[in-house]
Amino acid sequence: MRVLIEPREACILCMVCVAICPEVFSIRGDKILVSGTPWRGEAPRDMEPCIEAASSNCPVDIIVLEQDNDEEAPSGG
Ligand code: SF4
Repeated sequence: MRVLIEPREACILCMVCVAICPEVFSIRGDKILVSGTPWRGEAPRDMEPCIEAASSNCPVDIIVLEQDNDEEAPSGG
């Protein structure tokens, strides 16, 4: 799954995401890192609950999860 912090300008560097989910989020200078890369990155699927918790507790609500599409085939019939 992909995790995005968007818009990054809105981040107030409160460290809530880092406190809740340090396996995924960290801080370097004035950037939040997602899996070690600034503002966006890939995270393993089993990190989803912790990322969801970080997302719902982010005071400016800018943490976005994007699921991989190849898990479920949308085709019918
Ligand atoms: S919880 Fe939200 S505002 Fe706080 S550091 Fe993380 S992304 Fe930025």
